[in-house]
Amino acid sequence: MKIKVLKPILEANESIADEVREVLREQGVKLVNIIGSPGSGKTSLLEKTLTYLSPEEIGIIEGDISTTYDAERVYCMGAEVVQINTQGACHLDANMIKESLQNLTLNNKKIIFIENVGNLVCPAEFRLGEDLRIIVLSLTEGEHKPLKYPLSFKSSQVLIINKIDLLPHLKVDMKGIIEEAKKINPDLKVFPLSSLSGEGFSGWIEYIRRFIA
Ligand code: MG
Ligand code: ZN
Repeated sequence: MKIKVLKPILEANESIADEVREVLREQGVKLVNIIGSPGSGKTSLLEKTLTYLSPEEIGIIEGDISTTYDAERVYCMGAEVVQINTQGACHLDANMIKESLQNLTLNNKKIIFIENVGNLVCPAEFRLGEDLRIIVLSLTEGEHKPLKYPLSFKSSQVLIINKIDLLPHLKVDMKGIIEEAKKINPDLKVFPLSSLSGEGFSGWIEYIRRFIA
């Protein structure tokens, strides 16, 4: 007996992702999918980024297995937020995004950021209809995440290396991380920064502003 389950699920996901992309294209709204391990600083990146942009033009979809802690943090920054609690699932899929869009006002938005569930495995497999995929990696995660989770790095266009304020306290080779990541994906745009101190933010903000425009 052959059991084929994953392929049809991924194929169905692809076509819903295309629908999501089409809906947002018609509205002129960009969609960004942020992936990364738990604790890499996805929410902190969003919080700090919102201080540089116009929050009223931004929608956020927060994916978590449970709780609304992260959604509350970005809501405080003035953005419209929809929370998805996956009740155990370790990734978001395109159907969840399609449903979330019904709870967001789209006509005044320029960009929607999705914070995916903290996980480097299946979020890489599930396209959500995004125009841009960003992977957030904290310096505390060590040097070998790119080789251990190649699809996450291969399928992203931007790598944020977060928490560079900790560099003096860690035995980690940031140059080595960038080299490994570029081996997997030579086109990856890399922004080392600190969402706490704001160090390194100017390049990232310039990039995302240009992306929105
Ligand atoms: Mg978070
Ligand atoms: Zn999963």
